[in-house]
Amino acid sequence: VLRLDNIRKSFGDAHVLNGISFDIHQHEVVALLGPSGSGKSTLMKCVNLLEQVDDGQIWLNGTDITDPRADQDAIRARIGVVFQQFNLFPHMSVIRNVTLAARKVHHWSKDRAEARALELLDRIGMRAKAGAYPDQLSGGQQQRVAIARALMTNPELLLLDEITSALDPMLVGEVLDMVSELKEQGTTILMATHEMSFAHDAADRIVLLRRGVIAENGTPREVMDESRNPETREFFSHFR
Ligand code: ATP
Ligand code: MG
Repeated sequence: VLRLDNIRKSFGDAHVLNGISFDIHQHEVVALLGPSGSGKSTLMKCVNLLEQVDDGQIWLNGTDITDPRADQDAIRARIGVVFQQFNLFPHMSVIRNVTLAARKVHHWSKDRAEARALELLDRIGMRAKAGAYPDQLSGGQQQRVAIARALMTNPELLLLDEITSALDPMLVGEVLDMVSELKEQGTTILMATHEMSFAHDAADRIVLLRRGVIAENGTPREVMDESRNPETREFFSHFR
């Protein structure tokens, strides 16, 4: 589904990504791990075209999305994104939040967008909240709505960047449960997270970033339990 080929990205003298290459296959859940500042969000922004890569290519099912001639809106419709926080517009109801991009950016009709939104809200048990405003929802409910919105256009890939980091610990579980359900349904996911036990149990593969390169790429067991690299072992020892 996704292929990153030798991605490089610097901000001034800060070389954040120094040649990142890996693939994500269909139906795979890949957890992107690494210390704070290791470039996880930067990498996700490059995939979502919020940042331009300095070098290298990113392929989404055969489309080179780093090609400057590529249709950026069309590509964004093929990738769903949820961030840590501030995903919903506070002055808009849930249903307007969920339908906004589909209508304004992808030019769906109101009927089509609302039907799809209600179907998604129904699936997460939030249909009754369609008319509510974000501040009437818990943080966990807000993130679930944000995930529903990201799924509107049936994306080929879902990017989740620390979607539980800003949540009350009590609410983390319901959001991670939703991620597990999406995995069951076959959604292809790249998620940056500090939830190590979730990554261990739910991810098919772990990609560990360190100093702008991939330090590890393997199954949770290989990377988190059995790596012989002392820095990798040290990193995971903090989460036990
Ligand atoms: P965290 O776990 O804290 O979310 P991260 O792995 O997501 O960290 P990034 O946000 O990708 O890390 O940041 C990587 C590095 O790039 C940091 O040193 C950061 O200061 C720098 N950086 C990110 N965005 C910019 C920007 N727009 N301009 C300048 N530097 C930036
Ligand atoms: Mg980040």
